[in-house]
Amino acid sequence: MEIRYKSTRSEMAPVSASQAILKGLSEDGGLFVPEQIPPLPCSLRKLAEMDYRQVAYEVMKPYFGDFTQEELKACIAGAYDDKFDTEAIAPLAKVEGVYYLELFHGPTIAFKDMALSILPYLMTTAMKKNGGDQEVVILTATSGDTGKAALAGFADVPGTRIIVFYPKDGVSAIQKQQMLTQKGKNVAVVGVDGNFDDCQNGVKAIFGNAALREEMAQAGLAFSSANSINIGRLVPQIAYYVYAYARLLREGEIAEGEEIHIAVPTGNFGNILAAYYARRMGLPVKKLLCASNENKVLYDFFATGSYDRKRPFILTSSPSMDILISSNLERLIYEITGFDAKATAAFMQSLAGNGSYEITKEMKQRLEPFYGGFATEEEGAAEIAGVFDRCGYVMDTHTAVASAVASAYRKNTGDTTKMLVASTASPYKFAPSILRALKPEFMAGVQKAEPDNKTEPGQRNGERRSAKADDETKAAFACVDELSRLSGMKIPAAVEELRSAKLRHRRLCPVEGMEAEVKDLLNLVR
Ligand SMILES: *Cc1c(COP(=O)(O)O)cnc(C)c1O
Repeated sequence: MEIRYKSTRSEMAPVSASQAILKGLSEDGGLFVPEQIPPLPCSLRKLAEMDYRQVAYEVMKPYFGDFTQEELKACIAGAYDDKFDTEAIAPLAKVEGVYYLELFHGPTIAFKDMALSILPYLMTTAMKKNGGDQEVVILTATSGDTGKAALAGFADVPGTRIIVFYPKDGVSAIQKQQMLTQKGKNVAVVGVDGNFDDCQNGVKAIFGNAALREEMAQAGLAFSSANSINIGRLVPQIAYYVYAYARLLREGEIAEGEEIHIAVPTGNFGNILAAYYARRMGLPVKKLLCASNENKVLYDFFATGSYDRKRPFILTSSPSMDILISSNLERLIYEITGFDAKATAAFMQSLAGNGSYEITKEMKQRLEPFYGGFATEEEGAAEIAGVFDRCGYVMDTHTAVASAVASAYRKNTGDTTKMLVASTASPYKFAPSILRALKPEFMAGVQKAEPDNKTEPGQRNGERRSAKADDETKAAFACVDELSRLSGMKIPAAVEELRSAKLRHRRLCPVEGMEAEVKDLLNLVR
């Protein structure tokens, strides 16, 4: 039976997979969830013999029921090719008995590539299937990595345009450089004078604006989302957990059916939700370790059952996890209410209105597969330095959060269950923070990378970038070179090419100006 998608917030008629991908978000503001979770397609032994593309096909097939075999195979072949710098696509590194699942071997060197390299294929296929002649406008809020991965995926894809909003002082220098140098006739990048939550809320508000939607439709345009709320992103992420387990099995690291733990550095709760879906499909996973940085709203939620975003937003060295409103948690809330859309809508209303909600005791019991943990800036840095000193393996700041949480969990519980850590970015993407952990004396010599506060809201294309931003980028590249010297790791092409890349995007806007920015970019009459 074909799996269809229903909303977490109302009993609206379910839609097909391709419609859910095109819409991104349900019209009632809810997220699309599969009507049921399919079982694993075949035995783990059999999966162990497959390569990444084959596993991805087997895992995704039941979720994308209205795609033909040929369509889905073509999407997968287009996505997981030599854009990735390794045949394995998502290789495993075993370090001190822990398995790091490296999800950063794609074109923009963060795990977002795992899903965003296939999303444009899924979306254009979905457009054809639904016979629409509208142009799809991808609106995306980014905490740093989604933006570049989505830009790279959608650049010059016919029938699409993409607009990315990023917090102008909330991303790393390399992340910013990656986005601001993006080529493509259909791409736009806008810095917002606010944090990631502001960007995400702004995008959600634009999606929810019925008048604008109408205006867009008349111009032959329709919005969609490349954020992890889109099931076209969530489903491809399930594949690598199944693949990792199959690999461990093939390499004799685990026995068939042996349960493992999975630790995930978490922000918007998309990556860990995919691991949870893999578990529900029957992958032998015991605990899901949800690792937060100092924005530990999820840790508190798992500890107390109360989700409370009313707290200071902290800028950390793991910016892609600097999030206080974890959008994908809504899908888990929906499950633990017993699939009650009305109750879920009430919780989300409370979050929007009061900034918090509290789940029932019964709901909390259903969170049993999850373990919430967090690591401070110091703990993350100590994890990076400790593992490097002992084994010479360098991990990025986000991965370090999960790695630190996993280490502490093992130490505190004595639990020796094998541990898989999702490694979500190349350390080169956050070179200054890595060096601050590995070699503080080097950092003392490099100009401190400070927020770029000389640029003004409203600054437009063509205006000179501040000297401070240039210094910040220069300092980041000094760190890239030093990291390469220290670790012997090859500098990824994605970083090398930034040195000489031309800056192409200079738009900035205040939080309230996001909709106007969209209208301006789309040439809609104001
Ligand atoms: C996006 C991101 C995360 C957080 O993933 P979510 O799916 O938002 O929880 C962690 N690390 C890196 C490097 C990321 O880019």
